[in-house]
Amino acid sequence: DERIGGLSAARIADFSAAEAAAYAAARPRSRAALAAGSGAFLDGVPMHWMRDWPQPFPMLVARAEGAVVEDLDGHVIDDFCLGDTGSMFGHSPAPVARAIRAQADRGLTTMLPSETALEAGRLLCEVFGPMRWQIATTATDANRFALRLARAITGRPKVLVFNGCYHGTVDDTMVRLEAGRTVARPGLVGQVEDLTQVAVAAEFNDLASVEAALAAGDVAAILTEPVMTNSCMVLPAPGFHAGLRDLATRHGALLIIDETHTISSGRGGYARVHGLTPDIFVTGKCVAGGMPTAVWGVTEPVARRFAAYDASRPAGHSGMGTTLSANPMQFACLVVTLSEVMTAENYARMEAGAARLAAGLTKAIARVGAPWHVVRVGARVEFICAPGPLLNGTQAEAAHAPALEAAIHQGLLNRGCLIAPFHNMMLISPATTEAQIDRLVDSFGAVLGLLF
Ligand code: PMP
Repeated sequence: DERIGGLSAARIADFSAAEAAAYAAARPRSRAALAAGSGAFLDGVPMHWMRDWPQPFPMLVARAEGAVVEDLDGHVIDDFCLGDTGSMFGHSPAPVARAIRAQADRGLTTMLPSETALEAGRLLCEVFGPMRWQIATTATDANRFALRLARAITGRPKVLVFNGCYHGTVDDTMVRLEAGRTVARPGLVGQVEDLTQVAVAAEFNDLASVEAALAAGDVAAILTEPVMTNSCMVLPAPGFHAGLRDLATRHGALLIIDETHTISSGRGGYARVHGLTPDIFVTGKCVAGGMPTAVWGVTEPVARRFAAYDASRPAGHSGMGTTLSANPMQFACLVVTLSEVMTAENYARMEAGAARLAAGLTKAIARVGAPWHVVRVGARVEFICAPGPLLNGTQAEAAHAPALEAAIHQGLLNRGCLIAPFHNMMLISPATTEAQIDRLVDSFGAVLGLLF
C-alpha cells in the first residue's frame, strides 16, 4: 500500500470518495444550474482553472462579503482562500465599495490621468517606497512590462527565475530545472517558442546556482518572490536576499521583487518589512481591494536609464500597456485601499489571526503525529503534508501530495471552510473573526482525526 504524507493511499481515496459524495448531495441547485448553463463555456467554466478545484463540480457563489462566501445552495462558508489573495483584505471592503459607488457615475475608463491618479502615485510612494510607478491590470502584465524594461536597458535577453516559481502566465518564466538544466515546463498550451533562449532557472536558497546562471552575462533580470509562495511555502534562508542583491549588482542584472503574494507580510510588503532593495517592485491582486489592478515601480536610477533608452528608441509600439489599465475606477479603489484598508491596524489584526491559525494547525498536526509542518508569512498560512523546512522548489515539488491535499480541501469545505486550491494556503483578512479561525482549526482537526 502506497504511503502519502504518512497515510495509506487507499484510506485517502476512501475518505475522498465519501466527502465528494457528501458535497454533491448537499448541492442540488448548483448541480442543476451547472447542467443548464455551463455549456456556454469552453471547458464548462468561464476560466478554465475553475475546473481544477477538488470538488466534483464547482461551487456556484451567490454572494461574497467580508470573509464569507455563500453558495447557491445556501451554504455559508468561511472563506480562507479569499480569491487566492485578490480579496486578502476581505470581500468588498467598505471603503472600496464606497469608492466604487462614488466613481460609478463619473466614468469608468478614459485613457487619461486624473487628480485621483496623482494621489494614488503619492500613496504608492508612501506605502511601498519612493519608486516611479506604472499601473497595469494584472500582476502577470506588470511582470511582463517590468521584464521588457529590464531587457531594454540592459540589452540582455534572459530572465533568471527559480525552479518551482510562479509569476503569472508570463511565458518567459515557465521553465524548470531538470538534472541541473533549464527546460520548458511540461503542460504549456500551444507553446512554440524555445523558452531556454529567454530564461534560465536556478534553485532558491542556492546562491552558487544563481552565480552560475549569471556568469554567462546574458541575464537582464532576476525575477523572484521574497518567499516562494507558489510551491508550498519556502522561506528564504538567512543571507539569501542579501546575496541575491549583491550578485545582481555585480553581474549587471536588475533585481525584480514580485510581491503579489508576499504583500501579506505587512504594510509595504515583505521588501519594506524586511529591508530588501529591489530595482523593480511588482504587486497586484489585492492592491486595489479586489478591483483588477497591479502596480510596478522602478528606482530612480533605473528610471533614468530607461529615460535614456526611451529617448533613442525608434517610433513604434512599445509592447507595454493595455487599453483599460490606469482607469479611474482602479485609481478610486487604489487610493482608498492604500490609505484606509492597508493600514497598520488591519495588518496587525491579520497577523494576530494568522498566528492563531498557525498555532492551532500545528497543534492539530502534532496531535495525530503527522510528519507535516506549517509555515506563515504575515497573514498567509500554509500547511505542508511533509516534514520541513523546505529549502527550494525541488524539495517543494517532492513535498506536494495532490491526492491527499484534495481530500483535505474537500473535507474542510464540507465542514464550512474554503481554502485555496492547488496548495494548502489560507489567508486571514481584517474581516476574519477568531471564531472563524477556531472553526477552521477544529475542522482541520476533525479531518485529520478521520484520516489518521
Ligand atoms: N506573481 C505571483 C507571485 C503570483 O502568485 C501570481 C498569481 N498567483 C501572479 C504574479 C500573477 O497574478 P495574476 O494572475 O493576477 O496576473
